[in-house]
Order: sequence, then C-alpha cells, then structure tokens
Amino acid sequence: MASKTFDTRKEVDFVVIGSGSAGGILAKELSTAGFSTVVLEQGPYRNAADFTHDEYSVLIQSELLGGGNDVHGQTFRHYEHETAGPPRDRITPIRYAPGVGGSSVHFTANFWRLRPVDFQERSLIGPISGTNFTDWPITYEELEPYYTRVDWEIGVSGAPGPFDAPRSKPFPMPPMPIKSSGVLMEKAAAELGWHAQPEPHAILSQPHNGRAGCVSCGYCMWFGCEAGAKSSTLVAMIPLAEASGNCEIRPESTVIRIDTDDRGRASEVVYLDRDGVEQAQKTKAVVLSANGAESARLLLMSASPQHPDGLANSSGFVGRNLMFNQHSLATGVYEHPLNDYKGVQVSRIIHDFYDTDEKRGFYGGGGIDARPLFSATPIFHALLGTDPNAPRWGKGYKDVLAHDFTRTLCFVGSNTSLAMDRNNVTLDPESKDASGRPAIRLTYMDHDDDLATAAFFEDRCAELHDAAGAMKMWRFGIRPNTGGEHLLGTCRMGNDPATSVVDSKHRSHDVPNLFICDGSSMVTSGRGQPTMTIMALAFRAADHIKAAAGAGEI
Ligand SMILES: Cc1cc2nc3c(=O)[nH]c(=O)nc-3n(C[C@H](O)[C@H](O)[C@H](O)COP(=O)(O)OP(=O)(O)OC[C@H]3O[C@@H](n4cnc5c(N)ncnc54)[C@H](O)[C@@H]3O)c2cc1C
Repeated sequence: MASKTFDTRKEVDFVVIGSGSAGGILAKELSTAGFSTVVLEQGPYRNAADFTHDEYSVLIQSELLGGGNDVHGQTFRHYEHETAGPPRDRITPIRYAPGVGGSSVHFTANFWRLRPVDFQERSLIGPISGTNFTDWPITYEELEPYYTRVDWEIGVSGAPGPFDAPRSKPFPMPPMPIKSSGVLMEKAAAELGWHAQPEPHAILSQPHNGRAGCVSCGYCMWFGCEAGAKSSTLVAMIPLAEASGNCEIRPESTVIRIDTDDRGRASEVVYLDRDGVEQAQKTKAVVLSANGAESARLLLMSASPQHPDGLANSSGFVGRNLMFNQHSLATGVYEHPLNDYKGVQVSRIIHDFYDTDEKRGFYGGGGIDARPLFSATPIFHALLGTDPNAPRWGKGYKDVLAHDFTRTLCFVGSNTSLAMDRNNVTLDPESKDASGRPAIRLTYMDHDDDLATAAFFEDRCAELHDAAGAMKMWRFGIRPNTGGEHLLGTCRMGNDPATSVVDSKHRSHDVPNLFICDGSSMVTSGRGQPTMTIMALAFRAADHIKAAAGAGEI
C-alpha cells in the first residue's frame, strides 16, 4: 500500500525520526492508534527484490551500510587527549543500515531478552569506580509484556532455556533447526557440564502473521532477507503503519535539526530531501529513534541559543555512556564437513556464564553461541575466516580455503560493556559526511573489566573447541573496540534529570514533547543481542506516548 502524504507546513501529530528497530514499531503503534505520523528516514525504501546475495556489494562495498567511510567521514580515537582520525580501512567505526527498517533489515537476528538481574545489577553488585553503572528506572517485570508483544507481533522463534527469565506466553513458533555447529556445541557442553539451548531468533521458523518461514539460504548476517522471514520492522511493522492510512514513510529524508519554539517545545523537524534541498515538517511532537549514535549526533546538532549544549542535554549526558558489547572469539576447524554456511548463523547458545560472579574478580557476564561467522560466505571466509598460520597465497592458500570453508566453526562470546563518560559520540570539529553534516567522532576505550570478561569468555570458547574435538583452533585475541554495531546508552533513561536524558517513559527531561527511544535508551548493555530489548522498549514507549497524547499532555 502506498504511503499517505502530508503537507510539510501542516502540523502532524508526530514526526518519527528513523524507521529502524525502534522507529518502525513506534510508527506502527502511533499511526494505527489514529495519530497522523510522518516518518523521516534518511535511507532508501528497499523491498524484497532489492535484497541480493551479492557478497561483493554487501560485504565489501558496504551497500546496506550506506557506503564506506568516504561517505560517512567518521573519526575515531581511544581517548579524549588523542586526535581522532579516520579508520584504517573503508569500513565505518559506527555501523548500522540506513534505510526503511534500519538495522533490523541486515542484522543477524539473534534475539535475547534481558533478565531481571540486568535491570538492577548496580543495587546487587554495588558501584564500579570510573563508571556510570546504575540501575534501570524500570524492572524486567514491567517490560515483560512488551517482550511478549515482540515475540508475537514481530515474530520470534525459539524454545525456553534453563536460565531464561520468566515469560508470560510461550514462543509463537519452534526454534530454527539445529545445525552442525549446534550439535558440536551440545556435545561439548555436555562434556563440560554446561547447558546448550536453542537460540531465539527474530526469524520465522514457520509462516506467521501472513509472512513466509525461513528458507535457510544462509544470507542473514549483513544481508536483507528476500523471503521476508527475518523479522525486520520493514516487513513486520511498516506495512501495518502504511495500511492505517495515517502514516507517511518519507525515505531519503536526512534530518539535520530539531527546532524548538519560544516555549522550548519541539515545533518542526528540518531535513534534507533526496535532492539535498532543506525542508521542514511541522509537528505537535517528535519521536527520535535514529539509534545510539545518530540520535546523539542529531541532538548535538540541534544546539541553539536556548539549548547551547544541544537539545535535551542539560545533563551533559547526550552522547555519553556509549556501550558496544565486547566480544570473544575462538575458531576451530573440524575433521568432517560441517556445511555450517547453510541456514541461520546460530542454532545453539550457552548462558551458563550470564551473571557476574565475584569469584572471577571483575564485573561482567555474557553468552556464547556457535556459528560459521565469517565462514558463512566464501569471500568473507577468505578475508577473515582462515587459519592465520596457513599460507596466504598460491596452491597452499587454495588448498586451505577448499578444505576449511566447510569445516570451520566459531564459538563467539557476547559480553557486557560498562557505561563510562569517556566512551562517547561527539561532533567532529573538522570532518563532515557526504551530506555536509558534522561527522560522528567516536571516542572509545573498553573498561578493564570488559576486557577481562572478554578474555574469560575466550577461554570458555577455546574449551568448547577442545571438548568438541576441533583438529585445529585459533583465538581472535582480546582487542579494545574500535567501533561497533550495538549502539547503546547515549541518551539513557533515568529518574534523575542530572544523570539521564529521558525519563522512564522516554520523554526528554528538558523538552516535554520530545521522546527518544532506541538503543540510546539502554542503561546497561545486557550481554549482547540488544535488539529484542530495544523493540520491547519501543512498544512500551508507544503505550506511554499514546496515553499522554490521549490525556492532552503533549
Ligand atoms: C551486521 C549486524 C548484525 C547485527 N546482529 C544483531 C543480532 O544478531 N542481534 C541483535 O540484537 N542486534 C544485532 N545487531 C544490532 C541491531 O541491528 C541494532 O541493535 C538495532 O537495529 C538498533 O535499533 P535502533 O532502533 O536503535 O536503530 P536502527 O535500527 O539503526 O535504526 C535507526 C534508523 O534511523 C535512521 N536515521 C539515523 N539518523 C537519521 C537522520 N538524521 N535522519 C533520518 N533518519 C535517520 C537510520 O537510517 C536507521 O534507519 C546487528 C547489527 C549489525 C550492523
């Protein structure tokens, strides 16, 4: 169904900025509740026919990332006293997919709920020096009904595991079939006394809500799904928003500023249209869902005499507390072909080490999954997935590629990251992106506990390979993050306006008709796979925004 169109000079009820994991849900929820809604999305409106298996375009040319860093101009440094510079290769330090559906289009779709402990860890563990580690202003119990809505409305496959948080309703469909990597993980876990469980996925294992089930093509991570089985907001939410007759999706509209009126309320959203011409959409309220890097950039770009440090930034917390999730990785090659490139990336996970354990001597926890990772596709395998000690050219190289591609599997740890002032997104004073906006300057150095947690998980990954019978195994090594895909914490929720950007209902403390909901809202990082929580937060935020609008409070 074609979008409704709204006049930019006529005030709509809501402008939603960004149509990704959170924005797509907010657009659907607000428009189907009868509110006129314009969604401004900087990227294109792709459909199933636009999603290819072209490894070169997607993986090397960064097609779904909107191009390489020559387009984005991002800069990076570990510490504030350093001068930030461009990354060494083409790939951007901050990685997400501009386009309708945002990063839910190209993500891997591993889909973990947080657990009750994630929301109150600061109270349980105590403060951690040098960090802004704190409790969430909400509990798991408050968010649980919305996790369940994500399960059923977005479409999640899975089966309960031994350590899972309580759920009010079963998964709507069974997990994806187990793969060779999952079988080996189960075998190794049994030997080590750990527990392997099916991976929950935002991928349909069978038809659901009028969409088709997965065809196991194997092109999930970084790719769009031409079957529509991956539960992106592009396929699960946007069609419902458009069918409401109250929603206009306006792609290729890059927001450059949120303007406020003399009462300090957001009044219009200024953007560049596809021809680079400046336009402005009048609105009663704004919902900012541009992700944990872009929401912060936009608020900082919206500085004005009334808001000299950026919009909604009286706390100075906009852009701070960026968390990526640390990762650990050990790769093994097995005697027999595993053919793990087929199907979804992950079919089994281990959550035995989720909680912080004071016996380890540092904060942190996480989960481990089994997957082909880079060896899901031949070009990526050749570039990133091969044995570092094997020949890199000639016959020896060809032999190792031919032998190892079907026999390689990775155990991957997804771990905690701590919130700190020093890890942040700011506006680069010199570099600009292709549209002329100040580029994102990323400053990031992992906390020592995050690196210690990653090392702990790398050891567990190596143990799994030993127990599973790998013929050879190598570790990726623990490296500080120089960029990431999980963009969390930069406009955190909280009850105290001095240490948070939005309240527990996602309303900005400073601007009463500005709501911010996306990865930036998260207070702690969870253990990886944050998107299930981002989507649950979006359903919950929408209920509060609708209630406030219904009560005339916006
Ligand atoms: C390769 C990859 C694999 C991943 N795998 C997983 C996984 O397995 N599990 C998991 O939980 N997470 C995964 N993630 C992370 C996941 O995709 C994100 O956590 C999630 O999509 C974030 O949701 P969001 O709503 O905050 O932002 P996004 O989904 O990034 O949406 C933000 C949207 O806002 C738009 N936007 C930004 N700025 C502007 C502007 N100025 N004007 C207009 N529009 C704008 C963007 O174009 C985008 O469409 C992965 C990410 C990547 C890159």
